[in-house]
Amino acid sequence: MTTPKWADEIINQICTEYQIVRPPVNWRRSHRKNGGVIITQSGERIQSFRPKNMQSSGVMHTNRLTGLKWITITAGQDRRDQKLVLLHEMAHVLAPVKEHHGEEFWKIAWKLYRQFKVPINYAKSREYEYRKLSKVVYKQLNTI
Ligand SMILES: [Zn+2]
Repeated sequence: MTTPKWADEIINQICTEYQIVRPPVNWRRSHRKNGGVIITQSGERIQSFRPKNMQSSGVMHTNRLTGLKWITITAGQDRRDQKLVLLHEMAHVLAPVKEHHGEEFWKIAWKLYRQFKVPINYAKSREYEYRKLSKVVYKQLNTI
């Protein structure tokens, strides 16, 4: 599946602004639209999660030899959530490789969320549960 146009535009805008080479993006749909089903040893089928709760997820990969970065986005149902995940991964592309979820990473991530108008309360609830440092940096940025 190709990257949606709105996502392409965000990626291009970030790359232009930060003067980086556009990373390859592997955009795919979650294949678990109907929810996850686990089959127990006794053959019982259990619904492991509700289909409407499918969140997007992303990974940034780095080629250790070339340093080339690329990202994979597994898109859930919610556009807002897809955007948050895309920006999160783009923040990884912009942050120093060793940074991962460090302070510098979160500064970039919050900047992107604001710039591209991710609803801030949504970003907070999604990222706070994810990493405590995210909250620390958000508060620092808002007391300067
Ligand atoms: Zn991350």
